[in-house]
Amino acid sequence: MKALFDKVYSGIKLTRDDLIEMLSLEGEENLKALFERAYRIKKEEVGGKAYFRGIIELSNVCEKDCYYCGIRKSNTQVRRFLMGEDEIIETAQWVYEQNYGSLVLQAGEMRSPKFTEMIERVLKAIRQRTDDKLRVTLSLGEQDEETYARWLAAGAHRYLLRIETSNTQLYKRLHPEDHDIDIRLESLDALRRTGYQVGTGVMIGLPYQTVEDLADDILFFKQRDIDMIGMGPYIPHHDTPLPDLVEGVFDYDPERQLNLGLKMIAATRIFLRDVNIAATTALQALHAKGREMGLEAGANVIMPNATSTQYRESYQLYDGKPCLDENSGQCRGCLQHRVEYIGETIGFDEWGDSPHFVKRMATSG
Ligand code: SAM
Ligand code: SF4
Repeated sequence: MKALFDKVYSGIKLTRDDLIEMLSLEGEENLKALFERAYRIKKEEVGGKAYFRGIIELSNVCEKDCYYCGIRKSNTQVRRFLMGEDEIIETAQWVYEQNYGSLVLQAGEMRSPKFTEMIERVLKAIRQRTDDKLRVTLSLGEQDEETYARWLAAGAHRYLLRIETSNTQLYKRLHPEDHDIDIRLESLDALRRTGYQVGTGVMIGLPYQTVEDLADDILFFKQRDIDMIGMGPYIPHHDTPLPDLVEGVFDYDPERQLNLGLKMIAATRIFLRDVNIAATTALQALHAKGREMGLEAGANVIMPNATSTQYRESYQLYDGKPCLDENSGQCRGCLQHRVEYIGETIGFDEWGDSPHFVKRMATSG
């Protein structure tokens, strides 16, 4: 262990084995040392600010059927919704007026000309209403390259598409047969070609997932030259098939999920250094201070929920999603307080682009 920390401190290039060792660390002292180191690197590479991205969960209609997700198409217990265009635009304007600097539009996956056009109109209207001063991230799943290009031209800047796991066998176990990781990887390539600031990520602590898999996920981020990372612990949802499929094989332990989630953030920060990393809501579902813990383990982005409370109950990916009945104003106040409490400042009115992306652009001429 001493050899690992010596290596981490001296900045020597880390290997897959080092990542595995980091992700396997146990014990309060060791984890504290790991998180402190990751935090130092974060301060050096991306600064001590937390950037807010107001997230609008604009629809829970989804054509896909991922075995772990609460809004999968086969879940008949969900009341489906699609926010109206004006409602999305007004909420985006609220995000702008809160000085968040950045917005995320997320939804279940829908692939249709009607949906493409609707998002295109919404993006154009948001750009107009906010003087093109708001950075917009999309998280709308796999689409064809033309759609990505149209949305970029209409005002989007960043795209988040998690690969869920880089282990193709594990991916197959978690999805129906017609869900293809190669299409997801091709979508990531298309996003990069189109010119987005590209984000991806994985779920952490999945059934059958090993620390070797997680180390490979981090190597995948590096190999694909990813700009932003959005990853969080897997949390079961009671109306999904996954918990039943792994009964007796997988022992869900919230504390383990939280620690693994934080170790993943820290190891990713130490290995990739200058990317943006989100402290996702799933961390807060596992611990009241989960997102602050994420910031202290190396994350630098937080996504306050801007969705109207009337929809939040219908957008539950996993059980125990926090802030269901807190309105967006309360979310803002609560998060601001939490972030300031741990001694960080918030990058209000700043885009908070990934320094990795900025460097990538500078060197690509
Ligand atoms: N439909 C789009 C997609 O899949 O890319 C965007 C929205 S989807 C709800 C966003 C992410 O939620 C997924 O990439 C997945 O990692 C995460 N998610 C779904 N179910 C989850 C669960 N049970 N626990 C933790 N994260 C989950
Ligand atoms: Fe749909 Fe995304 Fe959930 Fe899969 S993870 S079922 S694509 S919303």
